[in-house]
Amino acid sequence: MIIGASLAGLRAAETLRSMGFDGSISVVGDEPHRPYDRPPLSKQVLTGEWEPSRIDLPGGAEGRLDVTWHLATSAEHLDLGRREVSLSDGQVLGYDGLVLACGARPRTLPGTGSLDGVFALRTIDDAMAIRARLEAGARRVVVVGAGFIGAEVAASCRSLGLAVTLVEPLAQPLARVVGERIGAVVADLHRDHGVDLRLGVGVDRIEGSDGPKRVVLTDGSSVDADIVVVGIGVVPNVAWLEGSGLTLDDGIVCDETTSAAPGVVAAGDVARWPNRLFGEMMRVEHWEHALDMGAAAARRLLTSDHEAEPYSPVPWFWSDQYDRKIQMAGRARPDDDVAVVAGSLDDRRFCALYGRDGKVMGALAMNMPAQVIRYRRAIVEGLAWDDALAAAAPAPAPIGDAS
Ligand code: FAD
Ligand code: NAP
Repeated sequence: MIIGASLAGLRAAETLRSMGFDGSISVVGDEPHRPYDRPPLSKQVLTGEWEPSRIDLPGGAEGRLDVTWHLATSAEHLDLGRREVSLSDGQVLGYDGLVLACGARPRTLPGTGSLDGVFALRTIDDAMAIRARLEAGARRVVVVGAGFIGAEVAASCRSLGLAVTLVEPLAQPLARVVGERIGAVVADLHRDHGVDLRLGVGVDRIEGSDGPKRVVLTDGSSVDADIVVVGIGVVPNVAWLEGSGLTLDDGIVCDETTSAAPGVVAAGDVARWPNRLFGEMMRVEHWEHALDMGAAAARRLLTSDHEAEPYSPVPWFWSDQYDRKIQMAGRARPDDDVAVVAGSLDDRRFCALYGRDGKVMGALAMNMPAQVIRYRRAIVEGLAWDDALAAAAPAPAPIGDAS
């Protein structure tokens, strides 16, 4: 049984079949839709460039995989001892193996959850609701949170010629992921495209229940908006697993082989596990990881305990903003050393490395895809920081630590 009819869950089903598993597979998903791809939701679907049918994931099409779909149905209770899951439609399904791929849901801004015109962006329905407001003439967009959702929604809305204000309590956009030095490059990219960037300030309240809104910021200033899009992070969907006996701590805690309990594995945004390559507990909220871990978790179910292998990937993501493609391999921390090893920050075409403990632990490229692929391999091989700088030509430009 697979809980979560999205990227990680679908990949788990595909992997089980490709490995020759010929038992029954049930996929339970609380959305009414067959699996679809989320990245275009903040990009081509939001702008209207793509219709929603274009983002269906091929493996989820009727008849492509021999699975039983339970859509618009939530898993509500897990009984580990009996190996059963209770569903919202009253069914209780037994399993021999269980893949938990139930993802994450958006954090909400306190007091604004039910306000008309205030949106989160996680699902196709969210994206189409925002798009409908834009098509109906909304012109002023306030985006709260300059993480991935915020930065991409701001870029998409500017490409439509809308007035965009982006509000972020941290000093720079994406600072938690890329550090402040590279975050400053992202900030300038948005400013140059006409975004009104309000950094180091949060939202105090949103006034106006129907129609236009006034977003009052913690510095006392305010911004008028026709719609507000909130992208302030996600929380893993684990509430239904409380009391099940699984270890829950910012996600479903797994061992290094993706196993959460005998016969139970987890994958994707919801899973937290010790990544041996980085020596840390990780939960990764990106597309490629959901695919890879979905496959790894399915393999784990079909493998005996003594043959199970650690899952130790180098995390990777991309983010499209305007004409820039940001790609990152590995993980950055605020006090990492950072050096530009190719291109230049001024040109917004560069590759920067993040180093700690004498090793390269991350590589971020803006419009330099080959570089990040190369360094991703190097991280697996344990490339030493000094060797990486020595090998880069011309001499790399250290830019201090990530902050
Ligand atoms: P999800 O996609 O969250 O799927 C989990 C599914 O399980 C959901 O359908 C959920 O409703 C369902 N579910 C939850 N609880 C239950 C339950 N109890 N019973 C039944 N079903 C349940 N990543 C990138 O690397 N690059 C990008 O450019 C990028 N863009 C993105 C843009 C947007 C707008 C969003 C939202 C995400 C983006 N991502 C991107 C991240 C990427 O899409 C996610 O990491 C990926 O979708 C995670 O897949 P998942 O299967 O683990 O979880
Ligand atoms: P995110 O990337 O975690 O960023 C959230 C941002 O909002 C952070 O900078 C956060 O700061 C800030 N924030 C938190 N509370 C706030 C508040 N009260 N007011 C204003 N800002 C606040 O999350 P996201 O952008 O919401 O994205 C949601 C999910 O979709 C994530 O899993 C993300 O990885 C995924 N996604 C990925 C991509 C991609 O990979 N290209 C694209 C879109 C979405 P703090 O860090 O201080 O909390």
